[in-house]
Amino acid sequence: SRSKASATHGKKDKQGEPVYPAPLEHFTDLEARFAISRRLCQNVRDQGYVTATEVQLAALPLLIDSPKRILPGEVAAYSAVDDNEGIDLLTVAPTGSGKTLAFLLPLFHKIAQARRKEEKLERRTTALILAPTKELVSQITNEGRKLGANTGIQVAQVRKGMRLGHDLDTNGNSMGDESVVKVDILVATPGTLHSIFKDINEEAAALEDVDTLVLDEADVLLDPLFREQTTGIWKKLSNPGLRVSLWSATMGSNIEELARSIIESRHKRLQPSDDV
Ligand code: ADP
Ligand code: MG
Repeated sequence: SRSKASATHGKKDKQGEPVYPAPLEHFTDLEARFAISRRLCQNVRDQGYVTATEVQLAALPLLIDSPKRILPGEVAAYSAVDDNEGIDLLTVAPTGSGKTLAFLLPLFHKIAQARRKEEKLERRTTALILAPTKELVSQITNEGRKLGANTGIQVAQVRKGMRLGHDLDTNGNSMGDESVVKVDILVATPGTLHSIFKDINEEAAALEDVDTLVLDEADVLLDPLFREQTTGIWKKLSNPGLRVSLWSATMGSNIEELARSIIESRHKRLQPSDDV
């Protein structure tokens, strides 16, 4: 079955210009087409991945290539977005179809590019991945570690009692206090993430640089059991450039509606309103 993201490729705007980037044809195009670093491409190959899965072919260009323009509401797979840069994506594809790499690779690429531009960039946590269970969180973290091998990009799983905000040494160990970390990418369950902050100010400060939020198994993260915790974190992410992608094997009863309403309310909050 075709993943939902692929249904949006090839759309043209009124001037006949493509609205969305064309899907990827082969994994091997990653380096040539998107200037993904040789090291990242090698790390993908080192995992034994030869051909990309369908959801990877469809979603990678959408997340890596900023589309020229998004027509909010036009495409079911997209939620409202602001001008020009980046997109908010909702991807529905079956279990086992390789969604993890589809969200990790664009993240690593974005961070690697920022590093390349600014050599002495201070390490900031710019990406947060939420997943509903600890097992899933550690699977994602492990896959992230493999993808990030020898890139200098650090990914860590949030554990109970962890403190955020300090740098790791060159071996990836935290300096001084063992439990204090500052990494590029955090992976957490909503509950654990909530539990490590003393108060909302501390939470907001720790997450202020986050410009990419990934909700894995979004149908679960937005079901009644987790919804409040998930949206609580989402709403606290204050970076105006925030991009959100949702990944799910099934389209739960009203995820799309819920996601759209959260994104739209954020955009209203972040953009000066015309109708006073
Ligand atoms: P999903 O999240 O969609 O259920 P996963 O990301 O967990 O799927 O991937 C399922 C399995 O497929 C994992 O073992 C992963 O390592 C493997 N995998 C991912 N991408 C590829 C690929 N391009 N080629 C071969 N195996 C892959
Ligand atoms: Mg998955």
